[in-house]
Amino acid sequence: MTTRTLLRSLLPLAASLAFAGALAQTAPAPAPARPPSPQALARARADSAARASGIDSLGRTTPGRALSDSDRRPADMPPRPVLRPAPAATASANPNGPAVPATIPGFWRTRAERSGWRQTSDYDETMRYCRQLEAGSRWLKLVSYGTSGQGRELPMLIVSKDRAFTPEAARATGKPVVLIQNGIHSGEIEGKDASLALVRDLAVLHQRTELLDSCIVLVLPIYSVDAHERRSRYNRINQNGPDEMGWRSTPLGLNLNRDYMKAEAPETRALLANVYTKWWPELLVDDHTTDGADYRHDVTYSFQHGAGVPAPLDRWMSEAFEGRVVKRLTELGHLPAPYLSFRRGSDVSSGIDFTNSDPRFSTGYAPLHARAALLVETHMLKPYGDRVKATYDLLLALLEELHAHPRALTGAVRAAEAEAIARGREPVAARRTLVLETRTTDRAVPFAFRGKATVWQASDITGTLVPRYSSAPWDTILSLYREMAPTLTAQQPAGYLVPQEWSAAIDRLQIHGLVFRRLAKAYRDTVEMQRIVEWNAEAQGFEGHHLVHVTKVALERQSRAFRPGDVWVPLDQRSGALAVNLFEAQAPDGLMAWNFFDTVFQKKEYGEDYVVEPLARQMLAKDPQLAKEFATKVAADTAFAHSPGARVDFFYRRSPWTDPDQDLHPVARALHAVPEIYLVPVAGAASEPGTGARH
Ligand SMILES: [Zn+2]
Repeated sequence: MTTRTLLRSLLPLAASLAFAGALAQTAPAPAPARPPSPQALARARADSAARASGIDSLGRTTPGRALSDSDRRPADMPPRPVLRPAPAATASANPNGPAVPATIPGFWRTRAERSGWRQTSDYDETMRYCRQLEAGSRWLKLVSYGTSGQGRELPMLIVSKDRAFTPEAARATGKPVVLIQNGIHSGEIEGKDASLALVRDLAVLHQRTELLDSCIVLVLPIYSVDAHERRSRYNRINQNGPDEMGWRSTPLGLNLNRDYMKAEAPETRALLANVYTKWWPELLVDDHTTDGADYRHDVTYSFQHGAGVPAPLDRWMSEAFEGRVVKRLTELGHLPAPYLSFRRGSDVSSGIDFTNSDPRFSTGYAPLHARAALLVETHMLKPYGDRVKATYDLLLALLEELHAHPRALTGAVRAAEAEAIARGREPVAARRTLVLETRTTDRAVPFAFRGKATVWQASDITGTLVPRYSSAPWDTILSLYREMAPTLTAQQPAGYLVPQEWSAAIDRLQIHGLVFRRLAKAYRDTVEMQRIVEWNAEAQGFEGHHLVHVTKVALERQSRAFRPGDVWVPLDQRSGALAVNLFEAQAPDGLMAWNFFDTVFQKKEYGEDYVVEPLARQMLAKDPQLAKEFATKVAADTAFAHSPGARVDFFYRRSPWTDPDQDLHPVARALHAVPEIYLVPVAGAASEPGTGARH
């Protein structure tokens, strides 16, 4: 997840304070709301002890105590400047994390547990451990769902008491499927160590086995496997362990948590085609570590909520997850919070902006399939073992919830699917409105924030103020903005018609598990085409693209011809919202945004001035309205007036020689469903919309 954090949000404030004061001035943060508690005093004593042991007042290890690894960092560089954290809510005797229960036999301990939370297993050791787990339990199966860019198998552990080790067998049980995805950012890897320990405890050591009665669990121990093997002490400068960790992007430089819609990385394509759209997990859990300012909350979360989210999922997240799972986490000794990014970027007191994510992110993606997704973010400064424990406890609490209310999640997903299918069949166009983007409103609810007293110190390095976090609690009530308002909507058509030559678009339909049909014979109909009136492309590259932002679209009704083999995408299917997000020109992660249709913006033919000029004269003579329009533009638009090319183009574009498909989105918005007689017949009984069958 991006690090829209307290630290970043405080920087403008810091800059303004720096402006007011000279170097070496100290600007205090808001004082602690109450005197330090005995626990806080104990923590302060622990900090002082840490300083005595070679950690300076900033919590940095003292230069000179060089680390013994032989890494690519030059020997004369100081050690990794990881800040020593103040103890978290779940502080323990071991500075790296909690003691491993004596009930866990040595043979079954993960590398993280055996190393006192200093290390995490590499890919090969993780695979060996997964095979060991599989050999140790009848309820486990290890499968590969594809290969990475560098040729590694992509592992998945299936956990099922019913031995439902295929999607079909899982569906037959009627139980919800939970997909726990770890290491999409492979340096943020506590999810792997938490998941492996949880699977071991439940399925091998037979603790709390009842928690596996009510669901089927899929675990991706490491999703971004190649990046996981780019191990180093120097991959995440802010993070407090493990000693070596993986990298954020794949070897192709792609961030998998921006790839859900464009689906370019082999890892994404394998996940979506072979796991997500085969198993159709009711809940996706995406485990991360967040950067950012220090606070006492040890686990934060995010999910889509409010406007644009299927109402049944919204309700499940609020009642089941926030109402019960988060409460349970608190009982287990954690300090959970919604993902902590702050509003207006100026100060904490402006409140928490609990927003939704675009569908390039896991949490934005799943609801477009009428399914729930949960982002879990522990905090980088908390010791590794504490982060593993926080993730473990969250997963445990989720399984407890599914066991206590086994039908709540499946019920919510089935209802969300029904909602999507009903919208696709809705005859009244106005009732087919779909929200594509949202922002938070100005209505807030109170949130009890558990911060740390912070002192801002002027720095001649940064030229501004830098925060120094103490271990003293600073508690306050913040405004939490979580009500969403739509900022962009689209009226869903009856379906989309995709000309077959746009094969990259059709490939994405397949990868995303959308139901579509091929035309068996020529078909003509009046359809709506999206004419792009205003757009711009980002100059700065992003994920290997220059994102296109369409700011104005004109819908044009045209009679268009389609050929046998062209593709019909009906929207009365559970993933209808996903198709809309792929094909609407303004959708933030649509295929147009990701440059799939850039060629429509390029002019293919040009009129010579000496050819167009006499033609223009005839056009002006015949059409007084056009003459007026031209004169007005020349008078009002200096750049136009001084550009012979633009003046010629003005007439070329209004002449019969212009390209009718210039600036036209190539995918048609259908006003009616394509009649069955035009479609390639469906083989077998898999034609029911919403079943995920592909044709
Ligand atoms: Zn992340």
